[in-house]
Amino acid sequence: MAILVTGGAGYIGSHTVAELLDRGEEVVVLDSLVTGHRESLLGGKLYVGDLRDKEILAKLFAENDIEAVIHFAASSLVGESMKDPVKYYDNNVYGTQCLLEGMQKAGVDKIVFSSTAATYGEPEKVPIEETDRTQPSNVYGETKLTMERMMSWFDKVLGIKYVALRYFNAAGAHASGKIGEDHRPESHLIPLVLQTALKQRESIAVFGDDYPTEDGTCIRDYIHVSDLADAHIRAVTYLRSGSGSNVFNLGNGLGFSVKEVIETAKEVTGLDIPVAIQERRAGDPAVLVASSDKARSVLGWNPSRADLKEIIRSAWNWHSSHPQGYGEA
Ligand code: NAD
Repeated sequence: MAILVTGGAGYIGSHTVAELLDRGEEVVVLDSLVTGHRESLLGGKLYVGDLRDKEILAKLFAENDIEAVIHFAASSLVGESMKDPVKYYDNNVYGTQCLLEGMQKAGVDKIVFSSTAATYGEPEKVPIEETDRTQPSNVYGETKLTMERMMSWFDKVLGIKYVALRYFNAAGAHASGKIGEDHRPESHLIPLVLQTALKQRESIAVFGDDYPTEDGTCIRDYIHVSDLADAHIRAVTYLRSGSGSNVFNLGNGLGFSVKEVIETAKEVTGLDIPVAIQERRAGDPAVLVASSDKARSVLGWNPSRADLKEIIRSAWNWHSSHPQGYGEA
């Protein structure tokens, strides 16, 4: 039986596909390649198509014996979601509805969902726990929470079991050096810092250095993409064992400050990384860190690449050997 990975040609999806293949799983990928890259797939059977295309979904489920789905395919830029909410409801919410409909018709009853810690909005406290209030502060987070709620009703009514994994920033690259992060446009701190080291950008913008943190810059949570892949696969195992639906945060301890990331990147690359201090951005909390106590105790998830230097070293290994990512756009 196979595992269907939607968005499997994306950043986190491709690392999850690599990990599944390493573990001897049969993998089917559905990806429209809207932000993903065909070259990022180290194996598996790729269907190039859109989640919202019910025909391709029906064909895929008819041609393969799918046991479970890992669902990454989504639009995920916070800023864009605040300019074009229709795109986010259409791709994320309606796309998930089509996927669940396809699963129902094919009798597939397990789904692991790549959610986000943006479902919490401005946290009441840190580290954030799964029982904390969910009050998204942007359209992207709202659509992800709506997708979770949709899954919860599909469980209650149709018995489709789900695990939602909520996390902040994926980072790092595969140990092989063959695949890594190539978002266009790039909005994540670590690749932006490393592109500055490669002189592809003049400087790295730091938004505010007067926050109530030790060095004045914001503290954020970064998790190695291969540790995320491991968590998604553990969630499949959890559902395979007959466990009910559940929600888990995936976090990395105390988090790291923006300055810490830049200083560590200087150390790892041995290169200069010019910094431009700018005004604080509206709605940027000082600290965003998720507690992963529940994932550790229930899923047995124990991130083995939690060290910031190791995360940046693996990202540098990819960026320095692939300065144009997967190639010209
Ligand atoms: P990505 O853009 O690299 O991957 C998304 C993939 O989905 C791409 O390959 C894209 O082509 C595909 N896709 C999008 N819409 C599709 C559709 N309608 N039909 C078929 N394929 C479609 O993004 P990523 O950084 O790998 O993120 C993957 C998932 O993880 C997203 O759902 C995102 O919300 C979530 N997430 C990411 C982060 C992060 O730091 N990158 C953090 C938390 C959650």
